[in-house]
Amino acid sequence: MPPHSGYPVVGKNIAFAKRPYDESKLKVTEDFPLLVKVLYLSIDPYLRGRFDASSYDSYVPPFEQGAPVCGFAVGVVVDSALDQFKKGQNLIGLFNWEEYALVHKSVLQYVYPTPKGANLPLIDYVGVLGMPSQTAYTGLKLVGQPKAGETIFISAASGAVGQMAGQLCKAAGLYVVGSAGTDEKVEFLKNELHFVAAFNYKKEKPLEALKKYCPKGIDIYFENVGGETLDAVLSVANRFSRIIGCGMISQYNAKEPYPLKNIINIVKKSITFRGFIVSDYFHEYQKEYYADIPKLVHEKKLKYRIDVTKGLENAPDVFLGMLHGKNFGKSIVELVSE
Ligand code: NDP
Repeated sequence: MPPHSGYPVVGKNIAFAKRPYDESKLKVTEDFPLLVKVLYLSIDPYLRGRFDASSYDSYVPPFEQGAPVCGFAVGVVVDSALDQFKKGQNLIGLFNWEEYALVHKSVLQYVYPTPKGANLPLIDYVGVLGMPSQTAYTGLKLVGQPKAGETIFISAASGAVGQMAGQLCKAAGLYVVGSAGTDEKVEFLKNELHFVAAFNYKKEKPLEALKKYCPKGIDIYFENVGGETLDAVLSVANRFSRIIGCGMISQYNAKEPYPLKNIINIVKKSITFRGFIVSDYFHEYQKEYYADIPKLVHEKKLKYRIDVTKGLENAPDVFLGMLHGKNFGKSIVELVSE
């Protein structure tokens, strides 16, 4: 069960706690040794799995019914019983969707100070330097291993993971193709991020589009959506291609799994299809990531579109909207009131 501070929650079926800061009720204790004012929430697709009570075999347990959602966020220490965290220090961590979150000792392993030297605005720690951006970096290093001249196709390409993956591959000299769910997102990929080609998968059938836009086949697929798009990739992928199994968002709300017809091509084409969870691997790349990405941001060589909504009370709608493609860029909820 995710720890939470035990206060009443309000909202729809998605719980968050909105309450005025009342010092007398929010005391750090041995079990909850840290009190954080939450500033920015990272609204992420993986949270969907935690609303499913049957997902016990998942890598994270389901949320306790009625408890506030707990996700990646940026906050500032209000009170601390721990030597390593001082009042006023900015932190990244797993914090509840609350204005003031008491942090249980069991999640302290996921809490760390904003890295020194990056010198970027706090919102960037759920944006361009946030978990999805780390995911793009990790997936490429661990599985994709891109080489100049290869073709990479990225689904959900205008999103938090996709836009980072695409730009890193562009910089490495790959032929980058993406798909997204609106014409505006497609234009962004082509005109702002300079993908060679992009298509709206709601207007063009993925199989036909991939044949058209990837004339040399696909060497790497950054898999974010699953379903029909994955099946199309399996059809046109090159021999010895790699599929970075990052996510399958089209399946998260699906009643039945999509019936893949081309799965046999993994064998026939010697395709490497490897899934990964960023938290299992990011530590291997953390040092080079923090050396690479802030530098690219400062040099304005990396664009990163964010989609910010103000107000904790909007978090449930933002989350549901993101699952349906309403976000354009990394979905963030801002709690900063000053
Ligand atoms: P995004 O910012 O890309 O937002 C989600 C997007 O998914 C929506 O905007 C929508 O874009 C697209 N989408 C929604 N439904 C569908 C559908 N049925 N078919 C195709 N696309 C759909 O999210 P992230 O970048 O944060 O996440 C991208 C993927 O990466 C997700 O699958 C997520 O679970 C996964 N992930 C995996 C991690 C790991 O450790 N393995 C860590 C972080 C993320 P559009 O308008 O283009 O349809």
